[in-house]
Amino acid sequence: MRVLGIETSCDETSVAIVEEGERVLSNIVASQVDLHARYGGIVPEVASRHHVERFIPVMCEALASAKTTLDDVGLIAVTNRPGLLGALLVGVSAAKALAMALRRPIVAVHHLEGHLYSAFLADNTLYERLPLVALIVSGGHTQLVWMEGYGRYALLGATRDDAAGEAFDKGARLLGLPYPGGPNLSKLAEGGDPSRISFPRGMISEGLDFSFSGLKTALRTFLEKDQGATSLADIAASYEAAIVDVLVAKLRRALQATGAKTACVVGGVAANRLLQRRMRAMAVEEGLHLVMPEPTLCTDNAAMIAAAGYWRYRTCGADALSFDTLATAPLATFQLA
Ligand code: ATP
Ligand code: MG
Ligand code: FE
Repeated sequence: MRVLGIETSCDETSVAIVEEGERVLSNIVASQVDLHARYGGIVPEVASRHHVERFIPVMCEALASAKTTLDDVGLIAVTNRPGLLGALLVGVSAAKALAMALRRPIVAVHHLEGHLYSAFLADNTLYERLPLVALIVSGGHTQLVWMEGYGRYALLGATRDDAAGEAFDKGARLLGLPYPGGPNLSKLAEGGDPSRISFPRGMISEGLDFSFSGLKTALRTFLEKDQGATSLADIAASYEAAIVDVLVAKLRRALQATGAKTACVVGGVAANRLLQRRMRAMAVEEGLHLVMPEPTLCTDNAAMIAAAGYWRYRTCGADALSFDTLATAPLATFQLA
């Protein structure tokens, strides 16, 4: 079955065609980064308007590059939660219109479930390696999730304040780097000395929750005192190392606590090179099967939504066309679903 996936929860308009939940035939992402850069962050109204303008061209490109027509599409999968309400509504309205016009089933997908399934697109053997521990590190979320199968998730820990991606973005802003901060800070850090400044590793030795807001404050205080004496590359490298150290330590602790031997790291921050290197080294030490998808599957894209939607349909069937769009919605609670 060919699934048409749609993702418009934030500032990427994306449409993908995925076969049987595992073969990506196309995955077109139109980023609005340039539009929002002048504001230093995402302006919701601007995002919604551009989703409306970009949706049909992006969908046509996704169909063409997958050599697929709308007639070949067997299922529509769309992100309906969580995200910017106006942005989500563009994708959801388009998806409902397509489902009605084509008389095809539709499924509503949780955005973080999409991020989880990016790991299954990257490595099909994960289905046989469950249960696993997933570290979801994105612009708005930082969570450790225990996963036993589709829809069977338990929350192991989460950030108490900022998300890891937010820590990257806010740090970048303090360093005067352009939006989007994460990739720019990481690029600057490549030439720097990560041991130059010892920034705080929030909650590193306690539990499975995260805290990144103290790090951001420490950077602000440092910059005020330093008055330009230290090289920006050293500061960026030290800041990045503080975030990465915490993420590696927490995933390691979660694996030790649960006894799981399979793990994945997903979400935009999983595109970070240092994080990839450090996680791979940790996986070797612990004897784990670790999956970190390629960067294009880490940041927001519709292929991951199509993959999650395929499994939702196989497990729970189609959703009624009347499903809602939600700005906030938890993926998992501390109890297994
Ligand atoms: P959420 O998924 O929580 O709703 P989102 O969809 O906006 O948030 P993603 O697209 O998953 O977030 O990820 C974007 C985040 O990833 C941003 O905070 C960005 O700075 C960060 N990011 C992307 N690439 C890198 C990188 N190479 N290094 C560090 N951070 C990165
Ligand atoms: Mg984005
Ligand atoms: Fe995301």
